Amino acid sequence: IARNGHEPEFIQAVQEVAETVIPYIAKHEIYNGKNILLRMVEPERLVSFRVAWVDDDGEIHVNRGYRIQMNSAIGPYKGGLRFHPTVNASILKFLAFEQVFKNSLTTLPMGGGKGGSDFDPKGKSDDEVMRFCHAFMLELNRHIGPNTDVPAGDIGVGAREIGFLFGMYKKIRNEFTGVLTGKGLSWGGSKIRPEATGYGTVYFAESMLKTRNESFNGKTVVISGSGNVAQYAAEKAIVLGAKVVTLSDSSGFIYDKDGLNDEKLAFVMDLKNNKRGRISEYVNKYPTAEFHGGQTPWNVKCDIALPCATQNELDQNDAKNLLNNGCMCVAEGANMPCNADAVHEFNNAKILFAPGKASNAGGVATSGLEMSQNSLRISWTREEVDERLRDIMEDIHDSCIQYGKEEDGFCNYVKGANIAGFVKVADAMLAQGVI
Ligand code: NDP
Repeated sequence: IARNGHEPEFIQAVQEVAETVIPYIAKHEIYNGKNILLRMVEPERLVSFRVAWVDDDGEIHVNRGYRIQMNSAIGPYKGGLRFHPTVNASILKFLAFEQVFKNSLTTLPMGGGKGGSDFDPKGKSDDEVMRFCHAFMLELNRHIGPNTDVPAGDIGVGAREIGFLFGMYKKIRNEFTGVLTGKGLSWGGSKIRPEATGYGTVYFAESMLKTRNESFNGKTVVISGSGNVAQYAAEKAIVLGAKVVTLSDSSGFIYDKDGLNDEKLAFVMDLKNNKRGRISEYVNKYPTAEFHGGQTPWNVKCDIALPCATQNELDQNDAKNLLNNGCMCVAEGANMPCNADAVHEFNNAKILFAPGKASNAGGVATSGLEMSQNSLRISWTREEVDERLRDIMEDIHDSCIQYGKEEDGFCNYVKGANIAGFVKVADAMLAQGVI
């Protein structure tokens, strides 16, 4: 805390892990006296750099770029890039720290990292986004590589941005390698990667529901966000027979009492991915739905909640509202969307609660599969990738049960995910000595 006190999100993420991991360390001789957690909270490397670019009117702008290389004990650094005006070192360090545990849980050999910039892609032309991405990669390229650090997308970085970033990397380095994931299908991307985080979140929730002989079929589901994760979480929940009644963005949420269907979801995908519009426009197209400006959807009655927008979007009051309305399962699609008090509410009520590092790991897992396909220079079918994704989500669920099941039979998935993720990385660090 003395060293990182000015970084609230990072402290929050570390505290959440420490709460469950410190008691585990205390009980296990091999980790005692090795200051292992202290070593894990210090990034191996943090690069911050100037990104200067020119807008359509010829004006020069300067943003700050970052790459946090958190831990490479079990594989090359791996984690997304976020372009959003709120990006700072604290947020990226929290994300990079979470990523270390998440990547460890996937069973694939990937270390943890994260990066991005305070650049805001909203309202920028495609050309401006391209010039920014090219300027960003002009510096980033010297810190990454297919065996060193393999970035991917995150908030504000989707297929368009990955394309511009990859193009510049290829030009500078004169090599076509799997240095980024989330690539287009015709140039090294993996099938199912765009769907993977949302699908994986639903697969994980499905595994949790199974432990109580429940399923998505016939359940009412509340989802926040309307970006990549939210869209595909909604798609898979609908396929499994659920009624998805909300989506949101930073301006508010839409409530559709009849539930979304394929046609409505296709409208949202076109609106958000191609037209880059606002979710409020949904009610112009479907007037029986309601738009609630400036609000989150946690007051809406539901059986299952999937927060898929951003960090700290669901607090203790929201958690109480969900519980009072009968919600029985919460799976985080976003990273740390529920704050610590909200998580305690859910665990005290002993409902099914999955932390993002477990439930949203499907995205990075499929990125890992993209890396394998790039190295082997092959492309697996949609079915092959989906099956591997499903298996990985089930394995993560099993690991959470192994380390998180308590004496009364309740599974604390937070504890399970933290300890399972910790053990693999800690063992590798111990084997590699003090470096
Ligand atoms: P997108 O940029 O595609 O979508 C983000 C969504 O969240 C948008 O609807 C956005 O609304 C909303 N949002 C962003 N910031 C805020 C805010 N401050 N308040 C309210 N709403 C907000 O990002 P993704 O879907 O890729 O990512 C969503 C979350 O999932 C993030 O936490 C990310 O770290 C996490 N995640 C993503 C993975 C992936 O594979 N993409 C993998 C694992 C985790 P608006 O358009 O108004 O900004």
